[in-house]
This record gives sequence, structure tokens and C-alpha cells, in this order.
Amino acid sequence: MKLLQNFIGGELCAPVSSAYLDVYNPASGQVYAKVPDSDKRDVDAACAAAEKAFPQWAATSVDERSRILSRIADLIEARHEELAQAESLDNGKPLWLARKVDIPRASSNFRFFSHAITQFASAAHEMTDAINYTLRQPLGVVGTISPWNLPLYLFTWKVAPAIAAGNTVIAKPSEVTPMTAYLLSEICREARLPPGVLNIVHGEGPKVGSELTKHPLVKAISFTGSTRVGREIATVAAPMFKKISLEMGGKNPNIIFADCNYGKMLDTTLRSSFANQGQICLCGSRIFVEASIYKQFKADFVTRTKAVKVGPPTDPESKLGAIVSRAHYEKILSHIELAKEEGGIILCGGEAVFPNGYERGWYISPTIIEGLDVDCRTNQEEIFGPVVTIMPFENESQVLTLANSSEYGLSCTLWTENLSRAKRMARNIHAGIVWINTWLLRDLRTPFGGVKNSGVGREGGFEALRFFTEPKNVCIQFENS
Ligand code: NAD
Repeated sequence: MKLLQNFIGGELCAPVSSAYLDVYNPASGQVYAKVPDSDKRDVDAACAAAEKAFPQWAATSVDERSRILSRIADLIEARHEELAQAESLDNGKPLWLARKVDIPRASSNFRFFSHAITQFASAAHEMTDAINYTLRQPLGVVGTISPWNLPLYLFTWKVAPAIAAGNTVIAKPSEVTPMTAYLLSEICREARLPPGVLNIVHGEGPKVGSELTKHPLVKAISFTGSTRVGREIATVAAPMFKKISLEMGGKNPNIIFADCNYGKMLDTTLRSSFANQGQICLCGSRIFVEASIYKQFKADFVTRTKAVKVGPPTDPESKLGAIVSRAHYEKILSHIELAKEEGGIILCGGEAVFPNGYERGWYISPTIIEGLDVDCRTNQEEIFGPVVTIMPFENESQVLTLANSSEYGLSCTLWTENLSRAKRMARNIHAGIVWINTWLLRDLRTPFGGVKNSGVGREGGFEALRFFTEPKNVCIQFENS
């Protein structure tokens, strides 16, 4: 059984308590590793190591920081297969998906910020007798907290800009999927990242995450996870005047007009509904379809969904793998029961699946529900699983109201060939990201985040570098000549 360790001050170390938590393989439902059950003492040690490392790291030239980030990207690429296998085993996602998306994106995150930091500039404001320039300085010791759905992808999305900007970091991966963050600690040593620049403390959210949030040395928290936990973090961090970036839940609309490119829409809607077992914050879980094509869409979407294979993550034919944990699996199944109680009709799926040889794993068939109105709990609460609802609409203004009637506002997908309508809708929809005739097409330079209960602040590109730096205005008055 693999025993994971914390990464503090450049050393791999056991938790002070010597206690460990079980790590499960969702495909089989079996424990396969142990992760440190860290507590305040480990967080204190990591903060001390980060504080010690900060002055030298902040003074390290941008070129040198860039070179180190680039080496980390190279090493992730060199260990691509090992990392993909580890991610799939830990999370339950299909191995082909980890190979194609998660691990390449983790190396891209380091590669991107290794370049971005060399292009990051700040403003100067000239007066008749003076000049102001803005110094962008690292914050100091910062904390990052990430979820289980895209473990290494989202972990590195925060860590890379934080260290590129000259901060030192205490990073807390999800206790549900700690494996690839652990492997990254080995990679950081190999890349000669100075000790204490990145510290990884494993363990539970209410222990490690909350200690990190309230630690007086930690100047900022960058969090991705549920809205419930984001709210808790804001409650603790705001009175301490820490900077916070919160990427939280979603209940994203997928709006399909009759004039769309039907074939492309159908292929993409299959992905945007069920990719990663529906466990992507950007999945479109509320599908609104223009009434004139509703019947056809329903028939085609159900047929295509029934053909989707759910199975062990290592099977290349499996389009959907296992749900990440027993608790989450039970939560999704209970939401399906709730949908039935609310009067929803299950058009396909709606039940647990038991693949041959993997009967104790946590699998759920992709589920389409109709007959519910937008205000019911099924359409208001985030399920975060392979479950979508479909609803007909009559016109643009009606669907805008329906789509916006959610406390969330992360992303929206629009399908129409009418550019004027697409532009109008994009302007009026409550979301941080709008995809038109596509889904999850990402350019790392763009602002990433949500509105309403989906988020505070933006990640991505220079937005992330701005978050991880403090602007200081310096004003120099000239002598009259
Ligand atoms: P979660 O909120 O339960 O946990 C996220 C992280 O926070 C974990 O590392 C957890 O240990 C930690 N945590 C838990 N309690 C804490 C506390 N009291 N203080 C500090 N940290 C604490 O979320 P999850 O179940 O891991 O992930 C699923 C959620 O993440 C979904 O709601 C999903 O929408 C969201 N998500 C959002 C985005 C985005 O970009 N907006 C991306 C991915 C996932």
C-alpha cells in the first residue's frame, strides 16, 4: 500500500500526528493508498518553511523563475503516462481522458505561466511634473485549496501563477484525490525548485484547509471547490483582510436554438453533459431546447446517450468511468430519486451500473430527465454528476429568463447560427464564461471565473498574476529645470 507524504521545506515528510486517511480506487471501491491526516502543526511547519523561502524567491530573477517553471512542465511531460495512470486510478476518470486532457493541461499550466511572467508588465502614469509607476510585488506566503474533479489540472492552475509571481505557497490538494499532487512534489525536487517555495500539506478540508485559511502568515487564499466551502473561507478570510479568489459551483445552461449546426451541437452536448462523469464545474446540466426541435433533439440525445459505455477507467471503450467516492455516488443517486419525487421523468439512465469484475466500484449511467420546471431543486442545486435535465422553450427572451433563474453563474453554452442573437444573449446571460457553438474550448490567456454564487475574482492569464501580486504606486516628482 502506497504511503503518501507531505512536502515541506523541500523534504517529503510524515504528518506530525503519524495519522493517515484511506485513499480509494473508485473503479473497485477498494483502499489502495494512505494520505497524511495533517493538522495545524503541519500547516504551521509549512507556513514557516514558506516564510523562510520567500525573500530569496521573491528576489530571484523573472528569467530564473521562468526557467524553473519550464523545467517542471518538461518533467510533467516526461512522466505523462505515469501521471495519467495515477490520476485515473485515484479519481476514477477514464485513462484516455487523463492522458488527453488532465496531464497535458497540468504541464501547459506551468509552461504558460513560465512565459506569462516574462510578459507581465505594469502601468506608468505621467503628470506634468512627475511620473507614477506601479510596482507589482508578490504577496508573500499564499495558500491554494483545490478539489478532486480535475486534481492535477486545477492544483497546477493555482500553484504555477503563484510561484511565477514570486510568492511561496502552501497548497492543499483534495484528500479524495491526493496522488498526483504527491507525485508533483517529487517533480519539483527534480526541477530544483528551491526548498519551501512550494509546500504541499495533505489532509481534510476542515482541518488543513481551515488552518491554512486562518493562518496569520497566509496573505491570500485561492480556492476552487463547492460554494458551501467557498462561503466558509470567505467568512474566515474577509475579516482578516486576506485576498481571496473563489471558483465555486455551477448549474450551467446549455441553450439550443433550432437554427444551430445540429450535428456539431449533438456531439458536443453529449460531452458537455457527461464528460468526466459530469464532474466538471463547466458541464451544462440544464439543457434548454427550442420547442420546434425539442422532439427530435430528445429522441436523438436519448439514443446517443444510451449508447455511451460506462465501465472501468482502464477500458479504452469506457466513455464514462467511476464516480469519485462512495459519498458522492450516493449523493448523485439521491438527487435522481429527488428528481423522480419532483415529478421528473427519467428518459434514460438513472441508476447504478455494476461492470463485470468491478461490481464494488461506483458507477452511474448517464441520466436524462424531463418534465421539471426551472425552479425545482433538481434544476437549482448542483448535482455534479452524469445527470442533466431537458426543457423546451419558445423564444429568446423566455429562455434568457429561465437560464438566469439560478443562484449560480459560471458558464453558459449557446447553439445558434444567428450571430446577432448570440451576441445579445452573451451580453445578457449571467455567467463568467459564454461558449457559442462550442464547449470547453480554453485559451489560458482569458479570464476564468463566475458570477453570483459561482465565484469571486478571476483566474487565468494576467488576471492570475494580478491576483498573486500587490500593486504599489510609486510617485517621483521632478525638480523644475
Ligand atoms: P469541496 O468544496 O468539498 O472541497 C474543495 C477543497 O476544499 C478540498 O481540498 C477540501 O478538502 C477543501 N475544504 C473542505 N472544507 C474546507 C474548509 N472548511 N476550509 C478550507 N478548505 C476546505 O469541493 P469538492 O467536492 O472537492 O469539489 C467539487 C466542487 O468544486 C463542485 O461544487 C464544483 O462545481 C466545484 N468546482 C468549481 C470549479 C470552478 O472553476 N468554478 C472547478 C472545479 C470544481
